[in-house]
Amino acid sequence: MDIKINLERLKNNLTELSEIGKDPNGGISRPSFSRADLEARDWLKNKIACAGLCVSQDGAGNIFGTLEGDGKTIMTGSHIDTVVNGGMFDGSIGVLSALECLQTIQEKGLPHKKPLSVASFTDEEGNLAGDFLGSRAFTGTLEREILEKGQTQFGRPFKSILKNTEFTIDSIMEAHTQRPQIGAFIEIHIEQGPVLETEDKSIGIVESIAGKQYWTCFFQGQASHAGTTPFELRHDAFLGLADLALKGTHYVAKEHYGSMLTIGSAHIYPGSFSIVPGRVDFSIDFRSQSSQTLKQIGDKTKEIAGNISNSRGLHFDYQVIDSTEPVKTSSRLNTMAKKHCEKLGYSHMMINSGAGHDAQILDLLTDISMIFIPCEDGISHSPQENIDWKDLENSANLQLNLLLDLSA
Ligand SMILES: [Zn+2]
Repeated sequence: MDIKINLERLKNNLTELSEIGKDPNGGISRPSFSRADLEARDWLKNKIACAGLCVSQDGAGNIFGTLEGDGKTIMTGSHIDTVVNGGMFDGSIGVLSALECLQTIQEKGLPHKKPLSVASFTDEEGNLAGDFLGSRAFTGTLEREILEKGQTQFGRPFKSILKNTEFTIDSIMEAHTQRPQIGAFIEIHIEQGPVLETEDKSIGIVESIAGKQYWTCFFQGQASHAGTTPFELRHDAFLGLADLALKGTHYVAKEHYGSMLTIGSAHIYPGSFSIVPGRVDFSIDFRSQSSQTLKQIGDKTKEIAGNISNSRGLHFDYQVIDSTEPVKTSSRLNTMAKKHCEKLGYSHMMINSGAGHDAQILDLLTDISMIFIPCEDGISHSPQENIDWKDLENSANLQLNLLLDLSA
């Protein structure tokens, strides 16, 4: 039997959702629990109900649409929150293609024994208090302290954001107690990189998802006059950072090619033409597909920063503010995905994910599978984010076949 999803309906849903949170500065701004996100949540709940699924929500604001059955729930989904000035596909295609699959199963009366559920997880993008708030709450791996002390990326206390919602820190911490048993989790997502487009493949079956660490760091030196302090007597905090950036990047590129290290923000103090920088606060983001490599990069970074401090008369310190472990997806599910791609005639390849996803948090509970589709020029987190609808149709049909197999 040739079973297909309805691409026109899926396209319309994505287009409708992309109207919510349209930013006059470009793209879509729908950070979790913003007014736009709350509107998008109501829109999604209504769509789920109209599709004939049972709508529910847990204490962390994770939204579910379920088709009843017996046994462990086969879950599929992603997130509908976006970064500021983000695109219309990151996250949203995963939730709406999942909804499309379940709606197709419901309306065609396709057989399934186990419960099937579409999930939309809160704050995958980490705008509130670290990444993956919703999926971490769902798996019961959130730390209360992170919520108590959490600040949004714009410096607002997380607690004050919650006041505009029906959720509390208690309800978020208890969200996992309402969870059903999960038999498998499937997430469809844009690749957010150039590999599939370059290789001219419609489908990427993700083999592993990178782990990462976020550090906030500083070098403390001594501010002094830029005209009168000889070079050899300076304790220039900025030069410490420049040195670390070059040596750290060189180390990762040379010893761990494929892993990444990025210094994405830096603030120099006091920040004047005429003063040698006395302090620099900066961030380090490093990622790898291997736990061991992640640890090695962390250790080496500390070693390099220590050597720089000694030679330049600086003090270095850091704090780990977020960390996720790399995960391997389920080889059982990957074999099934490959088989379906071949049967359906979709070009495909195995691929690794350098970006983090809810699926890697769900890995703590169950077998996970991630399916990527190409995005134009590899661009994401940008108003320029774009896809070929044919790829989305292919991935949704693959998802439908996987869900039918897994729920039989
Ligand atoms: Zn995403």
